[in-house]
Amino acid sequence: MTTAILTERGRLTALRAAWLFDGTSSSVIGDPVVVIEGAAIIAVDSGVPAPAGADVVDLGGAALLPGLVDTHVHLAFDASTDPAGHLAGRVDSQAVQAMTRAGQAALRGGVTTVRDLGDRGYLSLGLRGQPGLPTIVAAGPPVTTPGGHCHYLGGAAEPTVPGVRAAVREHAERGVDVIKIMASGGNLTPGTRQDLAQFPPEVLRAAVDEAHRHGLQVTAHAHAVAAIADAVAAGADGLEHVSFWTEAGVEAPAGLIQLIADRRTVVGATIGMVPVPGLAPPPEVLARRPAMAANMRRLYEAGALMVAGTDAGIAPIKPHDVVRYAPAMLRELGFSQAEALRAVTSVAAGVIGLGHRKGRIAPGFDADILAVDGDPIADPGALHRIRAVYARGTAVPDVAAARSA
Ligand SMILES: [Zn+2]
Repeated sequence: MTTAILTERGRLTALRAAWLFDGTSSSVIGDPVVVIEGAAIIAVDSGVPAPAGADVVDLGGAALLPGLVDTHVHLAFDASTDPAGHLAGRVDSQAVQAMTRAGQAALRGGVTTVRDLGDRGYLSLGLRGQPGLPTIVAAGPPVTTPGGHCHYLGGAAEPTVPGVRAAVREHAERGVDVIKIMASGGNLTPGTRQDLAQFPPEVLRAAVDEAHRHGLQVTAHAHAVAAIADAVAAGADGLEHVSFWTEAGVEAPAGLIQLIADRRTVVGATIGMVPVPGLAPPPEVLARRPAMAANMRRLYEAGALMVAGTDAGIAPIKPHDVVRYAPAMLRELGFSQAEALRAVTSVAAGVIGLGHRKGRIAPGFDADILAVDGDPIADPGALHRIRAVYARGTAVPDVAAARSA
């Protein structure tokens, strides 16, 4: 089949490897040939010769899989111990340089698509479509309350119905791809309360309604139980964190878990972390972590639509290519390895509105391809042994050096 395509086409590249995981299946296929023309995949086959005249790249014993998709990153945060402080110290041109470095780091680690859920001054929008960077889906500054979570990014809105409608409209006019709203307080912002909702329910509902009127999805940062419940009731398309945080601990009502699953509200699980010796999460997080993990497992068992939204950039344990570490944690929630790989490829692409272009190795899809050393289903650690990365058909220089799982 691949040979017939040639005549009217331009220069082709054929990738050969030992295995291929296409982003949707439960197993790998052997001896794949993936034919790329320009930025797109035009043919996928196995056990056939490469098309005559194509440039053949033989990756030997490697496996090909779709480039990874992280549904929740912050390019503006530099994965240091003080990302907000560093950002505050950068003028916009410096921030853009740092964001570019962050995007390059993601790409070298096999992350070919990111959804940026919070920048400053809409800076991530200008990075969309730039060569040498992942494909970026951008929220701009998160909509929050005055003094609320991440207010310093510039997205504070009057917490009233007209106030949030105006804020969402401004975001739409600036050209964002998605609305991020801070439904509860958060860790990075002293003075905010993770256990409390930031907006009255009717205000949250107005924000979601306004976004949908503009054809934009909404995902809500939601730790507090009330914030999660309000966001689901408001019709938010997605939830980030979903920690069911209360003042004393963690409390996830069974009815709310089932409602999230039944309504197909996307659960962006804040998982994936690189172990950094000497660094531990704050005690209030550490104490709640077993209950939070148990609730993620309940969501999974209830049939919730779950992806890994890592929050890359917010800490040293969260570098910009951290989503490679998420499948191992998804396994702990009950996912099979193939299911975990789908969660960071085709499922994640669908969640961010790019299911027609990203997250699969199939004809017509963008040629975003990660090659790793070994079968990533039989050997999950293979994900960290990166051999090559292609972003929209172009090989990424200096891919991540071999790291162990
Ligand atoms: Zn975040």
